[in-house]
Amino acid sequence: MKQLKLNQKKKKEQGFTLVELLIVLFIIGVLMSIVVPNIRAAGEKAQSRACLANQKLIHVQMENYYLENGEYPPDSDELTGSTEGDFLYVLYEENYLDSIPSCPVISGKYDYEIDAITGKLRIGCIHHNPLNAAESSE
Ligand SMILES: [Zn+2]
Repeated sequence: MKQLKLNQKKKKEQGFTLVELLIVLFIIGVLMSIVVPNIRAAGEKAQSRACLANQKLIHVQMENYYLENGEYPPDSDELTGSTEGDFLYVLYEENYLDSIPSCPVISGKYDYEIDAITGKLRIGCIHHNPLNAAESSE
């Protein structure tokens, strides 16, 4: 008899109740709602920093190219518009760059312009800092 009661008690204690499961799911949900946006923001920040580093590298190598050639490499607008005519491809072909840098964001693409007033070179990324936006903010 005593053994039977013990068995019944053991059966009752096995598994979780529905309320316990709901509480656990609720806690997991709250934690996810806190963690996921932070992870996404950190990823976007990292992409933005990588893009900025690429732009600085391109800027330095463009200036090197200018010092040695007396002009900036031709932009795709001036050539056929194909990727072979892109100024980054010219820098890569002339060994100013080890590889053609690309923005971590798929839609990001690099472009450059020379300021008409100051004559300064500006590198922009279509996604992170478009050249036209920089122009209007100044
Ligand atoms: Zn970018």
